[in-house]
Amino acid sequence: MNSEELYQRALKRIPGGVNSPVRAFGAVGGTPRFARRARGARLWDEDGREYVDLCMSWGPLPLGHAHPEVVEAVCRVAQDGTSFGVATAAEVELAELVARAMPSVPMLRLVCSGTEAVMSAVRLARAATGRECVIKFAGGYHGHADSMLVQAGSGALTGGVPSSPGVPAALARLTLVCRYNDLEDVARTLQEHAGKVAAILVEPVAGNMGLVTPAAGFLPGLRRLADRSGALLVFDEVITGFRVAWGGAQERYGVRADLTCLGKVIGGGLPVGAYGGRPELMRQMSPAGPVYQAGTLAGNPLAVAAGLATLRVLQRDGVWAELEAAGTALAAALREGALAAGVAASVVQLGSLCTPFFCPSPPRDLDGAKAADTAAYARLFHGMLDQGVYLPPAQFECSFGSLAHGPEEVAQVACAARAAFAGVAAAARRD
Ligand SMILES: *Cc1c(COP(=O)(O)O)cnc(C)c1O
Repeated sequence: MNSEELYQRALKRIPGGVNSPVRAFGAVGGTPRFARRARGARLWDEDGREYVDLCMSWGPLPLGHAHPEVVEAVCRVAQDGTSFGVATAAEVELAELVARAMPSVPMLRLVCSGTEAVMSAVRLARAATGRECVIKFAGGYHGHADSMLVQAGSGALTGGVPSSPGVPAALARLTLVCRYNDLEDVARTLQEHAGKVAAILVEPVAGNMGLVTPAAGFLPGLRRLADRSGALLVFDEVITGFRVAWGGAQERYGVRADLTCLGKVIGGGLPVGAYGGRPELMRQMSPAGPVYQAGTLAGNPLAVAAGLATLRVLQRDGVWAELEAAGTALAAALREGALAAGVAASVVQLGSLCTPFFCPSPPRDLDGAKAADTAAYARLFHGMLDQGVYLPPAQFECSFGSLAHGPEEVAQVACAARAAFAGVAAAARRD
Protein backbone atom coordinates (compact mmCIF):
# COMPACT_ATOMS: atom_id res chain seq x y z
CA MET A 1 0.00 0.00 0.00
CA ASN A 2 1.30 3.46 -0.82
CA SER A 3 0.86 6.65 1.21
CA GLU A 4 -2.25 7.76 -0.71
CA GLU A 5 -4.02 4.42 -0.13
CA LEU A 6 -3.01 4.32 3.52
CA TYR A 7 -4.16 7.90 3.98
CA GLN A 8 -7.59 7.11 2.51
CA ARG A 9 -7.90 4.13 4.88
CA ALA A 10 -6.66 6.19 7.82
CA LEU A 11 -9.17 8.97 7.15
CA LYS A 12 -12.00 6.50 7.84
CA ARG A 13 -10.68 5.42 11.23
CA ILE A 14 -8.46 8.19 12.60
CA PRO A 15 -9.54 11.86 12.68
CA GLY A 16 -7.75 13.61 9.85
CA GLY A 17 -5.92 10.36 9.18
CA VAL A 18 -3.15 11.11 11.66
CA ASN A 19 -2.48 10.83 15.38
CA SER A 20 -0.94 14.30 15.68
CA PRO A 21 -2.27 17.19 13.56
CA VAL A 22 0.83 18.60 11.85
CA ARG A 23 1.62 15.24 10.26
CA ALA A 24 -1.40 15.70 7.98
CA PHE A 25 0.26 18.28 5.65
CA GLY A 26 -2.67 20.64 6.37
CA ALA A 27 -0.39 23.68 6.17
CA VAL A 28 1.37 22.68 2.96
CA GLY A 29 -1.25 20.64 1.12
CA GLY A 30 -0.84 17.29 -0.56
CA THR A 31 -0.90 13.72 0.67
CA PRO A 32 0.90 13.10 3.95
CA ARG A 33 3.63 10.51 3.68
CA PHE A 34 3.50 7.28 5.63
CA ALA A 35 6.89 6.27 6.98
CA ARG A 36 8.15 2.72 6.56
CA ARG A 37 11.55 3.00 8.18
CA ALA A 38 14.40 5.37 8.94
CA ARG A 39 18.11 5.18 9.69
CA GLY A 40 20.61 7.91 10.49
CA ALA A 41 19.48 11.08 8.69
CA ARG A 42 17.34 9.18 6.18
CA LEU A 43 13.68 8.27 6.05
CA TRP A 44 11.91 5.94 3.62
CA ASP A 45 8.19 6.19 2.95
CA GLU A 46 5.63 3.59 1.91
CA ASP A 47 5.99 4.79 -1.67
CA GLY A 48 9.57 3.56 -1.71
CA ARG A 49 11.05 7.07 -1.77
CA GLU A 50 14.09 8.07 0.26
CA TYR A 51 14.48 11.44 2.00
CA VAL A 52 17.10 13.31 3.96
CA ASP A 53 14.98 13.94 7.06
CA LEU A 54 15.00 17.40 8.61
CA CYS A 55 11.84 16.80 10.64
CA MET A 56 13.46 14.01 12.65
CA SER A 57 10.40 13.03 14.67
CA TRP A 58 10.13 16.70 15.76
CA GLY A 59 13.17 16.67 18.00
CA PRO A 60 13.90 13.53 20.03
CA LEU A 61 16.71 12.22 17.80
CA PRO A 62 19.97 14.21 18.04
CA LEU A 63 21.87 10.99 17.23
CA GLY A 64 19.76 10.29 14.15
CA HIS A 65 17.20 7.55 13.54
CA ALA A 66 17.76 4.02 14.84
CA HIS A 67 21.14 4.76 16.41
CA PRO A 68 22.73 1.33 17.01
CA GLU A 69 23.38 1.98 20.71
CA VAL A 70 19.80 3.12 21.31
CA VAL A 71 18.35 0.17 19.39
CA GLU A 72 20.62 -2.26 21.25
CA ALA A 73 19.61 -0.83 24.63
CA VAL A 74 15.89 -1.01 23.88
CA CYS A 75 16.10 -4.59 22.55
CA ARG A 76 18.22 -5.77 25.48
CA VAL A 77 15.92 -4.22 28.08
CA ALA A 78 12.75 -5.51 26.36
CA GLN A 79 13.91 -9.11 26.88
CA ASP A 80 13.53 -8.59 30.62
CA GLY A 81 10.05 -7.10 30.59
CA THR A 82 8.53 -4.01 29.03
CA SER A 83 6.87 -2.56 32.13
CA PHE A 84 6.77 -3.45 35.81
CA GLY A 85 4.92 -0.72 37.66
CA VAL A 86 7.79 -1.16 40.11
CA ALA A 87 10.73 1.25 40.45
CA THR A 88 13.90 0.42 38.50
CA ALA A 89 17.62 1.24 38.78
CA ALA A 90 17.64 2.87 35.33
CA GLU A 91 15.15 5.55 36.43
CA VAL A 92 17.49 6.54 39.26
CA GLU A 93 20.39 6.62 36.83
CA LEU A 94 18.50 8.87 34.39
CA ALA A 95 17.50 11.26 37.19
CA GLU A 96 21.14 11.39 38.36
CA LEU A 97 22.38 12.02 34.83
CA VAL A 98 19.92 14.88 34.28
CA ALA A 99 20.84 16.36 37.68
CA ARG A 100 24.53 16.41 36.68
CA ALA A 101 23.69 18.06 33.34
CA MET A 102 21.26 20.64 34.75
CA PRO A 103 22.22 22.16 38.11
CA SER A 104 18.69 23.55 38.53
CA VAL A 105 17.20 20.04 38.39
CA PRO A 106 18.57 18.12 41.39
CA MET A 107 15.26 16.27 41.62
CA LEU A 108 12.83 15.24 38.91
CA ARG A 109 9.79 13.15 38.10
CA LEU A 110 9.51 11.12 34.89
CA VAL A 111 6.25 11.18 32.91
CA CYS A 112 5.30 9.97 29.42
CA SER A 113 5.15 13.15 27.32
CA GLY A 114 6.08 16.81 27.23
CA THR A 115 2.42 17.68 27.63
CA GLU A 116 2.29 15.83 30.93
CA ALA A 117 5.55 17.39 32.08
CA VAL A 118 4.29 20.95 31.60
CA MET A 119 0.82 20.19 32.95
CA SER A 120 2.37 18.76 36.11
CA ALA A 121 4.93 21.55 36.51
CA VAL A 122 2.15 24.13 36.28
CA ARG A 123 0.12 22.27 38.90
CA LEU A 124 3.16 22.23 41.17
CA ALA A 125 3.83 25.94 40.59
CA ARG A 126 0.23 26.74 41.48
CA ALA A 127 0.38 24.58 44.60
CA ALA A 128 3.75 25.92 45.72
CA THR A 129 2.80 29.59 45.32
CA GLY A 130 -0.87 29.33 46.26
CA ARG A 131 -1.59 31.38 43.10
CA GLU A 132 -3.63 30.48 40.04
CA CYS A 133 -2.52 32.56 37.03
CA VAL A 134 0.20 31.52 34.60
CA ILE A 135 2.00 33.77 32.13
CA LYS A 136 2.84 32.19 28.79
CA PHE A 137 3.95 33.73 25.53
CA ALA A 138 2.04 34.05 22.27
CA GLY A 139 3.29 31.33 19.93
CA GLY A 140 4.69 29.25 22.79
CA TYR A 141 3.59 25.63 22.63
CA HIS A 142 3.59 23.64 25.83
CA GLY A 143 1.62 20.55 24.90
CA HIS A 144 -2.15 20.25 24.73
CA ALA A 145 -3.25 20.52 28.37
CA ASP A 146 -6.27 22.85 28.73
CA SER A 147 -4.47 25.75 30.38
CA MET A 148 -1.73 25.77 27.75
CA LEU A 149 -3.90 25.90 24.62
CA VAL A 150 -4.21 29.64 24.69
CA GLN A 151 -2.55 31.42 21.76
CA ALA A 152 -0.47 28.29 21.36
CA GLY A 153 2.13 27.59 18.70
CA SER A 154 2.91 24.53 16.58
CA GLY A 155 -0.11 22.70 15.15
CA ALA A 156 -2.50 24.87 17.16
CA LEU A 157 -1.11 27.86 15.29
CA THR A 158 -1.00 26.23 11.88
CA GLY A 159 -4.59 25.11 12.31
CA GLY A 160 -5.58 28.71 12.99
CA VAL A 161 -7.22 27.79 16.27
CA PRO A 162 -6.20 30.52 18.70
CA SER A 163 -7.58 28.68 21.64
CA SER A 164 -9.15 25.28 21.22
CA PRO A 165 -12.88 24.65 21.64
CA GLY A 166 -13.32 22.49 24.70
CA VAL A 167 -10.98 24.59 26.83
CA PRO A 168 -13.17 26.08 29.57
CA ALA A 169 -13.15 29.88 29.46
CA ALA A 170 -12.72 29.89 33.23
CA LEU A 171 -9.42 28.06 32.83
CA ALA A 172 -8.26 30.07 29.82
CA ARG A 173 -8.75 33.26 31.85
CA LEU A 174 -6.04 32.08 34.23
CA THR A 175 -3.56 31.93 31.35
CA LEU A 176 -2.11 35.37 30.67
CA VAL A 177 -0.44 35.79 27.31
CA CYS A 178 2.55 38.08 26.78
CA ARG A 179 4.68 38.91 23.77
CA TYR A 180 7.88 36.88 23.46
CA ASN A 181 11.04 38.99 23.85
CA ASP A 182 9.02 41.80 25.46
CA LEU A 183 9.99 42.27 29.12
CA GLU A 184 7.83 45.37 29.50
CA ASP A 185 4.76 43.38 28.55
CA VAL A 186 5.64 40.81 31.23
CA ALA A 187 6.30 43.49 33.85
CA ARG A 188 2.98 45.18 33.07
CA THR A 189 1.09 41.87 33.23
CA LEU A 190 2.69 40.98 36.55
CA GLN A 191 1.71 44.38 37.91
CA GLU A 192 -1.88 44.07 36.70
CA HIS A 193 -2.14 40.64 38.35
CA ALA A 194 0.02 41.36 41.38
CA GLY A 195 0.16 38.45 43.82
CA LYS A 196 -1.75 36.18 41.42
CA VAL A 197 0.87 34.82 39.02
CA ALA A 198 2.17 31.35 39.94
CA ALA A 199 4.52 30.90 37.02
CA ILE A 200 6.16 32.53 34.06
CA LEU A 201 6.25 29.66 31.58
CA VAL A 202 8.53 30.07 28.59
CA GLU A 203 10.29 28.15 25.86
CA PRO A 204 13.71 29.75 26.53
CA VAL A 205 14.36 29.39 22.82
CA ALA A 206 11.00 29.44 21.06
CA GLY A 207 10.67 26.48 18.73
CA ASN A 208 6.97 26.29 17.98
CA MET A 209 6.44 29.46 15.96
CA GLY A 210 9.40 28.40 13.89
CA LEU A 211 12.73 29.06 15.60
CA VAL A 212 12.75 32.40 17.42
CA THR A 213 15.74 33.08 19.65
CA PRO A 214 15.68 35.07 22.89
CA ALA A 215 16.89 38.67 22.57
CA ALA A 216 19.88 39.62 24.73
CA GLY A 217 18.67 40.17 28.28
CA PHE A 218 15.24 38.57 27.79
CA LEU A 219 15.84 35.42 29.85
CA PRO A 220 17.80 37.16 32.65
CA GLY A 221 15.02 39.76 32.67
CA LEU A 222 12.39 37.05 33.17
CA ARG A 223 14.50 35.66 36.03
CA ARG A 224 14.50 39.08 37.72
CA LEU A 225 10.78 39.66 37.15
CA ALA A 226 9.94 36.22 38.54
CA ASP A 227 12.05 36.85 41.65
CA ARG A 228 10.55 40.28 42.19
CA SER A 229 6.95 39.08 41.81
CA GLY A 230 7.20 35.76 43.64
CA ALA A 231 6.28 33.79 40.52
CA LEU A 232 8.26 30.69 39.62
CA LEU A 233 10.25 30.76 36.39
CA VAL A 234 9.37 27.60 34.46
CA PHE A 235 11.50 26.74 31.43
CA ASP A 236 9.85 24.45 28.93
CA GLU A 237 12.99 22.78 27.63
CA VAL A 238 11.13 19.96 25.90
CA ILE A 239 12.88 20.92 22.63
CA THR A 240 15.96 22.71 23.97
CA GLY A 241 16.96 20.29 26.76
CA PHE A 242 19.99 18.23 25.63
CA ARG A 243 19.55 19.93 22.23
CA VAL A 244 20.94 23.47 22.27
CA ALA A 245 23.62 22.42 24.80
CA TRP A 246 24.25 19.49 27.16
CA GLY A 247 22.65 21.53 29.94
CA GLY A 248 19.94 22.95 27.65
CA ALA A 249 19.10 26.61 27.12
CA GLN A 250 19.85 27.21 30.82
CA GLU A 251 23.48 26.39 30.17
CA ARG A 252 23.63 28.20 26.84
CA TYR A 253 22.17 31.44 28.25
CA GLY A 254 23.35 31.14 31.86
CA VAL A 255 19.91 31.51 33.44
CA ARG A 256 18.49 29.07 35.99
CA ALA A 257 14.83 28.13 36.04
CA ASP A 258 12.88 27.18 39.17
CA LEU A 259 11.18 24.33 37.35
CA THR A 260 12.29 22.72 34.11
CA CYS A 261 10.22 20.61 31.73
CA LEU A 262 11.93 18.04 29.55
CA GLY A 263 10.83 15.56 26.90
CA LYS A 264 11.84 14.60 23.37
CA VAL A 265 15.64 13.98 23.63
CA ILE A 266 15.54 12.42 27.10
CA GLY A 267 13.38 9.64 25.65
CA GLY A 268 15.61 9.08 22.62
CA GLY A 269 12.54 8.54 20.42
CA LEU A 270 10.37 6.73 22.96
CA PRO A 271 7.60 8.42 24.95
CA VAL A 272 9.15 10.31 27.89
CA GLY A 273 8.78 13.62 29.62
CA ALA A 274 10.13 14.95 32.91
CA TYR A 275 9.83 17.94 35.16
CA GLY A 276 12.17 18.89 37.92
CA GLY A 277 13.66 21.51 40.18
CA ARG A 278 14.79 22.12 43.75
CA PRO A 279 13.99 19.41 46.31
CA GLU A 280 11.81 21.72 48.42
CA LEU A 281 9.59 22.22 45.37
CA MET A 282 9.69 18.67 44.03
CA ARG A 283 9.05 17.15 47.46
CA GLN A 284 5.59 18.70 47.28
CA MET A 285 4.72 16.01 44.71
CA SER A 286 2.92 12.88 45.83
CA PRO A 287 3.86 10.66 47.64
CA ALA A 288 6.50 12.95 49.26
CA GLY A 289 3.92 15.75 49.40
CA PRO A 290 0.27 16.53 48.71
CA VAL A 291 0.32 17.51 44.99
CA TYR A 292 -0.99 14.58 42.98
CA GLN A 293 0.51 13.25 39.78
CA ALA A 294 1.01 9.63 38.69
CA GLY A 295 1.48 7.39 35.63
CA THR A 296 1.06 3.69 34.88
CA LEU A 297 3.88 3.76 32.33
CA ALA A 298 5.89 6.63 33.86
CA GLY A 299 9.60 5.77 33.89
CA ASN A 300 8.92 2.96 31.42
CA PRO A 301 12.03 0.75 31.12
CA LEU A 302 12.23 0.86 27.32
CA ALA A 303 11.86 4.64 27.21
CA VAL A 304 14.38 5.17 30.00
CA ALA A 305 16.86 2.83 28.28
CA ALA A 306 16.52 4.76 25.01
CA GLY A 307 16.95 8.06 26.87
CA LEU A 308 20.00 6.87 28.81
CA ALA A 309 21.65 5.47 25.67
CA THR A 310 21.03 8.78 23.88
CA LEU A 311 22.40 10.91 26.71
CA ARG A 312 25.49 8.70 27.07
CA VAL A 313 26.40 9.36 23.44
CA LEU A 314 25.74 13.09 23.91
CA GLN A 315 28.21 13.08 26.83
CA ARG A 316 31.14 12.07 24.63
CA ASP A 317 33.94 14.43 23.65
CA GLY A 318 33.38 16.49 20.55
CA VAL A 319 29.72 15.61 20.12
CA TRP A 320 28.40 19.10 20.79
CA ALA A 321 30.76 20.75 18.33
CA GLU A 322 29.69 18.18 15.76
CA LEU A 323 25.99 18.82 16.37
CA GLU A 324 26.55 22.57 16.15
CA ALA A 325 28.48 22.12 12.89
CA ALA A 326 25.68 20.02 11.40
CA GLY A 327 23.16 22.77 12.20
CA THR A 328 25.41 25.50 10.83
CA ALA A 329 25.99 23.58 7.61
CA LEU A 330 22.31 22.78 7.07
CA ALA A 331 21.30 26.40 7.65
CA ALA A 332 24.05 27.58 5.28
CA ALA A 333 22.77 25.18 2.62
CA LEU A 334 19.27 26.66 2.91
CA ARG A 335 20.59 30.23 2.98
CA GLU A 336 22.67 29.68 -0.17
CA GLY A 337 19.64 28.27 -1.96
CA ALA A 338 17.59 31.35 -1.10
CA LEU A 339 20.41 33.70 -2.06
CA ALA A 340 21.03 32.00 -5.41
CA ALA A 341 17.32 32.27 -6.23
CA GLY A 342 17.14 35.88 -5.06
CA VAL A 343 14.43 35.05 -2.51
CA ALA A 344 14.17 37.20 0.63
CA ALA A 345 14.43 34.60 3.38
CA SER A 346 15.82 34.55 6.91
CA VAL A 347 17.22 31.22 7.99
CA VAL A 348 17.29 31.30 11.78
CA GLN A 349 19.66 28.76 13.33
CA LEU A 350 20.77 27.81 16.82
CA GLY A 351 22.78 24.64 17.34
CA SER A 352 21.12 21.84 15.41
CA LEU A 353 17.82 23.76 15.14
CA CYS A 354 16.84 25.97 12.23
CA THR A 355 13.86 27.51 10.43
CA PRO A 356 13.70 29.18 7.04
CA PHE A 357 11.28 32.12 7.24
CA PHE A 358 10.16 33.98 4.14
CA CYS A 359 10.64 37.46 5.53
CA PRO A 360 13.56 39.89 5.35
CA SER A 361 14.65 39.71 9.00
CA PRO A 362 14.49 37.05 11.72
CA PRO A 363 11.22 37.22 13.70
CA ARG A 364 11.42 38.33 17.33
CA ASP A 365 7.93 37.20 18.30
CA LEU A 366 4.72 35.63 17.02
CA ASP A 367 3.66 38.68 15.01
CA GLY A 368 7.02 38.63 13.26
CA ALA A 369 6.72 34.90 12.55
CA LYS A 370 3.17 35.31 11.26
CA ALA A 371 4.34 38.04 8.88
CA ALA A 372 6.39 35.41 7.02
CA ASP A 373 4.97 34.15 3.73
CA THR A 374 3.57 30.71 4.60
CA ALA A 375 2.49 30.01 1.01
CA ALA A 376 6.15 30.37 0.01
CA TYR A 377 7.08 27.93 2.79
CA ALA A 378 4.56 25.44 1.41
CA ARG A 379 6.20 25.76 -2.02
CA LEU A 380 9.63 25.30 -0.49
CA PHE A 381 8.39 22.25 1.40
CA HIS A 382 7.06 20.55 -1.72
CA GLY A 383 10.07 21.58 -3.77
CA MET A 384 12.37 20.02 -1.17
CA LEU A 385 10.16 16.93 -0.91
CA ASP A 386 10.34 16.44 -4.69
CA GLN A 387 14.13 16.68 -4.37
CA GLY A 388 14.26 14.10 -1.57
CA VAL A 389 14.38 16.29 1.55
CA TYR A 390 11.65 16.05 4.18
CA LEU A 391 11.24 19.40 5.97
CA PRO A 392 8.68 19.80 8.77
CA PRO A 393 5.37 20.21 6.91
CA ALA A 394 4.56 23.64 8.40
CA GLN A 395 6.25 27.03 8.71
CA PHE A 396 5.82 27.32 12.46
CA GLU A 397 8.13 24.45 13.38
CA CYS A 398 11.85 23.81 13.74
CA SER A 399 13.93 21.79 11.36
CA PHE A 400 16.22 19.41 13.21
CA GLY A 401 19.74 18.35 12.34
CA SER A 402 21.52 15.46 14.02
CA LEU A 403 24.91 13.77 14.33
CA ALA A 404 23.85 11.67 11.34
CA HIS A 405 23.58 14.73 9.07
CA GLY A 406 27.07 14.54 7.57
CA PRO A 407 28.66 16.18 4.49
CA GLU A 408 26.77 13.92 2.09
CA GLU A 409 23.37 14.87 3.54
CA VAL A 410 24.30 18.54 3.70
CA ALA A 411 25.32 18.44 0.01
CA GLN A 412 22.01 16.83 -0.85
CA VAL A 413 20.10 19.49 1.12
CA ALA A 414 22.11 22.24 -0.64
CA CYS A 415 21.31 20.81 -4.04
CA ALA A 416 17.61 20.42 -3.19
CA ALA A 417 17.49 23.94 -1.75
CA ARG A 418 18.83 25.49 -4.96
CA ALA A 419 16.07 23.81 -6.97
CA ALA A 420 13.31 24.40 -4.40
CA PHE A 421 14.09 28.09 -3.78
CA ALA A 422 14.32 28.62 -7.56
CA GLY A 423 10.79 27.18 -7.70
CA VAL A 424 9.65 29.60 -5.00
CA ALA A 425 11.16 32.51 -6.95
CA ALA A 426 9.51 31.37 -10.16
CA ALA A 427 6.11 31.14 -8.46
CA ALA A 428 6.58 34.65 -7.01
CA ARG A 429 7.26 35.99 -10.51
CA ARG A 430 4.06 34.33 -11.78
CA ASP A 431 1.92 35.85 -9.01
C1 LIG B 1 6.75 19.01 21.84
C2 LIG B 1 6.62 20.01 22.88
C3 LIG B 1 5.78 19.82 24.00
C4 LIG B 1 4.83 18.67 24.09
O1 LIG B 1 5.48 17.44 24.16
P1 LIG B 1 4.64 16.13 23.74
O2 LIG B 1 5.58 15.02 24.04
O3 LIG B 1 4.31 16.30 22.30
O4 LIG B 1 3.43 16.10 24.59
C5 LIG B 1 5.83 20.75 25.02
N1 LIG B 1 6.62 21.82 24.95
C6 LIG B 1 7.42 22.05 23.90
C7 LIG B 1 8.31 23.24 23.90
C8 LIG B 1 7.43 21.16 22.83
O5 LIG B 1 8.18 21.44 21.75
